[in-house]
Amino acid sequence: MKTIKDFDLNGKKVLIRADLNVPIKDNVITDDYRIKQSLETIKYAINNNAKVIVLSHLGKVKEESDKTKNTLRPVSIRLGELLNKPVLFSPNTKGKELEDMINNMENGDVLLIENTRFEDLNGKLESGNDLELGKYWASLGDIFINDAFGTSHRSHASNAGISKHLDWGIGFLMEKELVTLNKVTTNPERPFTVILGGAKVSDKIGLIENLVTKADYILVGGGMAFTFLKALEFKVGGSLVDNESLDFCKKILEEYPNKIILPIDVIKSLSKEQLGKECFINEIGDEEIGFDIGRKTVELFSQYLKTSKTIIWNGPMGMFEKPQFSYGTKYLCENLKQIDAIKVAGGGDTAAAIRDFGYEESFTHISTGGGATLVLLEGKELVGLK
Ligand code: ADP
Ligand code: MG
Repeated sequence: MKTIKDFDLNGKKVLIRADLNVPIKDNVITDDYRIKQSLETIKYAINNNAKVIVLSHLGKVKEESDKTKNTLRPVSIRLGELLNKPVLFSPNTKGKELEDMINNMENGDVLLIENTRFEDLNGKLESGNDLELGKYWASLGDIFINDAFGTSHRSHASNAGISKHLDWGIGFLMEKELVTLNKVTTNPERPFTVILGGAKVSDKIGLIENLVTKADYILVGGGMAFTFLKALEFKVGGSLVDNESLDFCKKILEEYPNKIILPIDVIKSLSKEQLGKECFINEIGDEEIGFDIGRKTVELFSQYLKTSKTIIWNGPMGMFEKPQFSYGTKYLCENLKQIDAIKVAGGGDTAAAIRDFGYEESFTHISTGGGATLVLLEGKELVGLK
């Protein structure tokens, strides 16, 4: 694969597909991590005298009214602040006005085009990878740089579509994501430990199947631990159980009895609105629900992590959005901070939790991808890059 460094950008119209899909509430960006991670590629193009045309999606656009909350206009302002230069914004995703704006650009200018998914309104043209749309967007530039790792598990007009019609390469963020995630999964320094959590086992079966063969240990917390515990015939009360995955969990536990490490204590409660109580996993009553791992489990997991040289983490250890069930995830972050290893975290909620709790600096890399990261960890192909 070519990277942006393999092109002469001078005076060229460079289309950059970035992933600027950030959370926005009442017109305010609540987390600009993805914008910041996209800066290196955009700056490189500016510094190499290109006319920089940026495309991205934002959220889902299913009806006309979704346009107001999913406009990229606030992102263009934030991007300008971070670049320390004005960013032009085209409210149109195609047409004469957009083309005129591009024709009037000087070398080093940056233009952000409105949400590519506005093109989903009349027949899912963007998400359905409409051939004409990809061809049209490609006609706006000379070179295409795909830097949107978070979208690379989808084949859309604004990534796969454009790349059919232009000489293309990847940007710095895409390169960093691919290199880091491939390295840790194909040739990890050992011991290699995977921390898994989150809600459902069924979302992560592919990932478990792939990583269980490669990792030395898999530490399972979060809601998904209860399906494994139930498979071992523990009583888990009203905790989250993914019944369809019970057989899968049984099979994995039988095949890898010393690799899968499960919680020994949890924080239980009668509802997610109430405070929790710490107990051993054989002390969960019929009405009670496990919402977090307990302190002894954090200690147990940390024993494995201490000697690890490579650590991958996907899935929070508890319902971290609720302060009373956030400590398992927080304490794990604190312990990971002290450990000297290659530490990579991925998954939308995992990344959000780590950054909310202020542990961004404790990781070698926090992936900008949610679904795309899972697809890579499953060892599968990214269709948006094919
Ligand atoms: P990621 O986005 O990082 O891949 P997931 O989406 O798989 O992670 O899981 C995150 C969700 O799992 C969070 O919303 C969190 O509240 C939920 N969760 C974690 N532990 C539990 C639990 N014990 N019970 C219910 N939900 C849980
Ligand atoms: Mg999630």
